[in-house]
Amino acid sequence: MSRYHIWTIGCQMNRADSERIAAYLEQMGYRPEPRSTAADIVLLNSCVVRQSAEDKVVHKLESLRSREGILALTGCMVDSDIDGLRERFPHVDLFFTPQDIPALARFLEDRGLVSGGVDPGAVAVRPDTSAFVNIIQGCDNFCSYCIVPYRRGRERSRPMDDIVVEVEGLVERGTREVVLLGQNVNVYGRDLPGRPRLSQLLEELNAIPGLARIRFLTSHPRDTDDDLVAAVARLDKVCEHMSLPVQAGDDQILQAMGRRYTVAYYRDLVGRIRGAEPGVALSTDVIVGFPGEGQEQFARTYDLLRELRLDSVHVACYSPRPQTRAARELADDVPPDEKERRRQAIEGLQEGIADARNRGLVGERVEVLVEGRKRGKWWGRTRSDRLVFFPDDADRLGHLVEVEVTGAGPWSLQGRVL
Ligand code: SAM
Ligand code: SF4
Repeated sequence: MSRYHIWTIGCQMNRADSERIAAYLEQMGYRPEPRSTAADIVLLNSCVVRQSAEDKVVHKLESLRSREGILALTGCMVDSDIDGLRERFPHVDLFFTPQDIPALARFLEDRGLVSGGVDPGAVAVRPDTSAFVNIIQGCDNFCSYCIVPYRRGRERSRPMDDIVVEVEGLVERGTREVVLLGQNVNVYGRDLPGRPRLSQLLEELNAIPGLARIRFLTSHPRDTDDDLVAAVARLDKVCEHMSLPVQAGDDQILQAMGRRYTVAYYRDLVGRIRGAEPGVALSTDVIVGFPGEGQEQFARTYDLLRELRLDSVHVACYSPRPQTRAARELADDVPPDEKERRRQAIEGLQEGIADARNRGLVGERVEVLVEGRKRGKWWGRTRSDRLVFFPDDADRLGHLVEVEVTGAGPWSLQGRVL
């Protein structure tokens, strides 16, 4: 029996695409293989959001140069210039975009490795306790630093009925939580007939029996409106958790980034969300060392994060990306060691905030959706996306368990079953 191996780097969208590719291959008779050396086909799902991610992909591609068998590359590294990629990596047999997974079937059919192909609409992703579901592809925002719109194309929402049918199917096969994905989920539906809104989709999914939890990411602060905030507060299955990337805490930098909001707007939005949904967990992304970010501008970002005390922060050092407006028009003027110093300063700040917030939960009761077992303990997440470990002899996989928090650190909680 033929075997496949998929190597994935990057965001949740890439992980979701890899799950879809795996399901596609399994439907064609392939089986998963944990070692790339033993697989008949190796697929690399790439990310180019930062130079460091692209370097890892290139390194991986180089390490597979002398390997026998089929090698395929997908993800954000695959753009319209496939000829350029072919020249750089002649040992890669197939380049395909994540939007065109059927290209993989056509390639395997042409080589006589599979017959009959598979209807892409009929491919069912392997159900897990928690499953990713793409609801909108691409992005029209063109933030000045970001390569995504150039690689993932324009916004394209999936019809609401398709999403509902997919989620119903996942739930029937054991999924308890869905995480709706898109680069900017808030604009879901604006390209569809009748312009359905994300709040309507959440409403429909909330009515699916057997589904326990719904999450969605990422939200663009500019497009997060009161209608959505109210839906999060109203719908019982929608978790108290939002991903709201701020990127910077200085108005000049935000403007140069093309983010279309000010610090005052973001602060007010956080206040409105917390007002409508007390206990909501907010995560954010920050870029340090963007062109023009001096000590003063950086201090404003640091101070904003200290003031808002968000639940989690993902910090990245600015990396100029080809085609983007920032790379074309602005000098990358913050030295790498200074970017790294700023990144570590924010990580240190956030570690203290997360630690204090988590310690405040000791003694509280939380609901955990159990996703797996590690080092003799069950692990899962609270509705506010906190990782919890607890011991128990019973089989808890896929169950919602009431747990008392007995210990806390910055990255996880410990508990005992009630
Ligand atoms: N759509 C989301 C948003 O609006 O923030 C996230 C998309 S992006 C793939 C994920 C994160 O990567 C961003 O939030 C940003 O912090 C980071 N990122 C994107 N481009 C970057 C760049 N050129 N340099 C450093 N970090 C970058
Ligand atoms: Fe990139 Fe901005 Fe689109 Fe997010 S919203 S994917 S940062 S262009």
